[in-house]
Amino acid sequence: GQCRIVCPTGAITVVSDIEPVMKALADPQTIVVAQIAPAVRLALGDKFGMPKGENVMGRIVSIMHRMGFDEIYDTTYGADLTVLEESKELLEHVSSGKGVPLFTSCCPAWVQHCEKKYPDLAKYISTCRSPMQMFGAVIREYFRDPEHNAGKKLVNVAIMPCTAKKGEILRPESRTRGIQDVDYVITTEELSSIIEQSGIVFDKVEIESADVPFGIGSGSGMIFGITGGVTEAVMRRLQRGHDRAAMRAITESGVRGMEGIKKFEIPYNGKLLKAAVVSGLANADIIMDGIRSGEEHFDFVEVMACPGGCIMGGGQPAKSGPRTRAGRIRGIYETDINTQIKKSDENPTVTLLYETLLKGHVHELLHRNTREAERAEQKRVE
Ligand code: SF4
Repeated sequence: GQCRIVCPTGAITVVSDIEPVMKALADPQTIVVAQIAPAVRLALGDKFGMPKGENVMGRIVSIMHRMGFDEIYDTTYGADLTVLEESKELLEHVSSGKGVPLFTSCCPAWVQHCEKKYPDLAKYISTCRSPMQMFGAVIREYFRDPEHNAGKKLVNVAIMPCTAKKGEILRPESRTRGIQDVDYVITTEELSSIIEQSGIVFDKVEIESADVPFGIGSGSGMIFGITGGVTEAVMRRLQRGHDRAAMRAITESGVRGMEGIKKFEIPYNGKLLKAAVVSGLANADIIMDGIRSGEEHFDFVEVMACPGGCIMGGGQPAKSGPRTRAGRIRGIYETDINTQIKKSDENPTVTLLYETLLKGHVHELLHRNTREAERAEQKRVE
C-alpha cells in the first residue's frame, strides 16, 4: 500500500503487537475484545486465495473466536457514532460562519500531516475521535461495569487496515480518564500471519456473526473504508428519512469515484454546502494551499491519506494492484447494499447507547480529549 511511504507514523510500527495480544489470549484473567474495521474484511481473503474484494467478515469472526477472543465487535458501529457526532458538528460549524471548512479527523496520517504542515488550520479539524477511538472508549466504559467484566482485566484490540492507527492509540487525546482506550492495533497483514501460524484452514471454517451489543453497524458505517464514504454517510444523515430517490441522488452527487480530489455540493435545508473529498496527501496539499490562499471555499473537507481510502491502507496485504482495488470497491458497496440499515441515525443499537451508557458522557467518550493533550504538552514544556 501507498501508506507505507506516505504515513509519517509508519516508521514507529516496526515492533509488532502480535506478541502481547497472544499473551493476553492465553491469560485466563483477561477479557480480550476486538473490533474489526470495514476495510479489513475485504482484503484479508487475498492472503487465502479468496476472490478479490470478497467480504470475509464471517470467517474472521469465527477464526478469532476459536483463537480465544472473548468478544468480536464491528467498527462500523463506531463509525455510526462518528457520523452522528460529526454531522452535528458540521451544522454547528457552518452556522458559526467561520468561513473555513470543517476537516475530518478519522485518518491519523492526515491529522498528523495537517498539524505539521498547516498548524493554522489544524484547529478546524473535527473534535470527533475516529471510529476506532470512539468505539475503543465505549468498549472500555462498558467493561468497567462489574456485571460485564466478571472481575477480569480488559484488553482492547483493534484490527485495522492501517499502520498509522498504531500511533493514533498512543496520542494523549486517545485516553479517557488517564487510561489508554485501545491497547493494541493489529493490521490486516499481521492478522493474516497469526491465522497462518494457527493452522486454522481459512476456507474450511463456518462463518459466524459479530457479537452483541456492538456487532451491528449500518451501511454508512461500512463505507467509511473508502474515499468519500465519511462524506456520503454524513449526507445520508442530513437527509430526512430514507426516500429511495434522495438516497440515489446522494450516490450520484459526485461523492463517489476514485479521483484524488472531488468537489461537489451537499443540499441541506434549502442551502448548498460546499464539500471536497480528497485522498492522498499530495492532493490534500493542493486543496490546503487553495484554502490558505483564499482561492477555495468549502464547508466540509474529507481527507484520507491513502489514495482510495482505507481499502488501500498501509496495513493491508501488500501486493495490491488495480484489480484488487476494483474488487475492494465492489465489495464495500455491495456490503452496503446488503445491509438493511443504511443510515447511522437509524441504527437502533446506536441510538439506544445514547440513552444509556453515553448519557452525560458524549463529550468525554466520543470527542478528542484535548485536556489530556494539553496536560501532556504542559509536561513536555516543563
Ligand atoms: Fe490509515 Fe485509512 Fe488513513 Fe490510510 S486512509 S492512513 S488506512 S486511516
